[in-house]
Amino acid sequence: MMRGAFDDVPLTVLFPPLTPAERDSLRRTAGTVDTARADRRTADWEWVLEHAAFSGARMGTLVVLGLDVIEHAEDGDQLEFLLQVVRTELGQLAVDAAVNVACWCETDHATHDVDALRLVVSEETRLPDAFRAGAERMLRWLARPHDADHWRAKAGLPARPIS
Ligand SMILES: [Zn+2]
Repeated sequence: MMRGAFDDVPLTVLFPPLTPAERDSLRRTAGTVDTARADRRTADWEWVLEHAAFSGARMGTLVVLGLDVIEHAEDGDQLEFLLQVVRTELGQLAVDAAVNVACWCETDHATHDVDALRLVVSEETRLPDAFRAGAERMLRWLARPHDADHWRAKAGLPARPIS
């Protein structure tokens, strides 16, 4: 796993089929997300070169490139916003966006995705378009309250008990 600013992401290695214009589009989109979180605690972009070339079916999802904005993580509670380019279980390239919160159910599920979006990249849906759509969703989420209980209430999940 490598970490850094989006300018450090080796887009030509991760996504060889992209045209220069498509790489510019990815950079512009990443810039809108970076700008939205400029006043917050920074979380770098992360990427895994070995996952980029993998296109076979497998167990689980592999993160190729992603941003994990941890808004809140203390006393066992957690609120995370994720924007990731992944290899799916079927080996497809896809963009995943998700809001993830800590679970306070009686049965411990560890965490819940309270909202999530997956856009599979195809001939019709190119990676820059999927990435932009995922980023736009993430920007809408980031504009909402950064309070894990707000998101749990929205999803019908129990709030964190007051101790
Ligand atoms: Zn739960």
